[in-house]
Amino acid sequence: MSSPTQTPAHPCQGCGASVEYAPGTLALRCPYCGFEQRIAPPARQVREFSYDAFLAKPRVRALAPNRFSCPGCGARTESDALSRACQFCGTPLVADTAAEEQIAPEAVLPFALDRNGARHALRRYVRTRWFAPNRLKKVSEAETMKSTYLPHWTYDARTVSDYTGKRGEHYYVTTTRRGPDGRKTTRRERRTRWYPARGRVSRDFDDVLVPATRRLPADRLAKLEPWPLKQALPYEPAYVTGHHSLRYDVEPQTGLEQAKGIMAKVIEADCKRDIGGDVQRLLRVDTRYSDVRFKLMLLPVWVGSYVFGGRTYQVLINGVSGEVQGERPYSAVKIVAAVTAALALIACVVWLYQVYRA
Ligand SMILES: [Zn+2]
Ligand SMILES: [Zn+2]
Repeated sequence: MSSPTQTPAHPCQGCGASVEYAPGTLALRCPYCGFEQRIAPPARQVREFSYDAFLAKPRVRALAPNRFSCPGCGARTESDALSRACQFCGTPLVADTAAEEQIAPEAVLPFALDRNGARHALRRYVRTRWFAPNRLKKVSEAETMKSTYLPHWTYDARTVSDYTGKRGEHYYVTTTRRGPDGRKTTRRERRTRWYPARGRVSRDFDDVLVPATRRLPADRLAKLEPWPLKQALPYEPAYVTGHHSLRYDVEPQTGLEQAKGIMAKVIEADCKRDIGGDVQRLLRVDTRYSDVRFKLMLLPVWVGSYVFGGRTYQVLINGVSGEVQGERPYSAVKIVAAVTAALALIACVVWLYQVYRA
């Protein structure tokens, strides 16, 4: 199955240069002459695949690197990217996933934010971070940003969960105590009476999202949510042309375990609601999953980094909403100034108090 990776070439009809997907449109645009080419409307719906059927198929041991043969300069290169620019001539390359053993992306959420939009989002982010050093505001102008499609798995599942637990009901008692001085004090105290509880809850999950790449920190990716997943289109190489795309390196099995962890929290809340009462304890939850379906989806993220004080800071920007997540340096000078100002204010208030009392 190791057929050579083909690269769909998109030569500009105006000048012959390579065109790129233009964020926020349904078109390819030439970066040189501005000529636009509409992308054909999707001829199919986004599908979700049976996980059982996937498991029944023979396992792929390790994914071979994607091979690219550049239509611009003829260079043959290998990479674990799904789409990227030719390292020699810059021509946009897209791997042909249909020919490979890897799971092909089924859906893509195209970039809505272009480079300018991403820059604005980053500037707004830096401006509203008061403790950021002033110099950072200059650094952010010179940052590098790369439009990158990041692979994610989505999972659907039908779940039925049997639980056992306890339902706590509050009640109040009035207690009277005699203090050491002999005086009686009465107090109202809250107590909890526990009753055994058991039951069954069920829920259908739709599009539980798990990152399929380990290249970027999962907790920061999670903070880019929510994604308008329903706006995703059936995957077409045209949408990733001219942008970098990462191939998945988290297997569907690993992703499903993570998705089950996300579902478990929702199921736990369902069980507690079902138990009722004032407080609940869950002792055991047995969940059965059926009709598990999954798909591979590409989500648009502007990945940027800047160097400040000899350290590289990474920034991620949601390519649809403009939500920014990232590390940032704190300005020691600004923090010290803020603390000093607060102390000065307190000293001032104390002084005024003493002056007026005198
Ligand atoms: Zn052109
Ligand atoms: Zn090339």
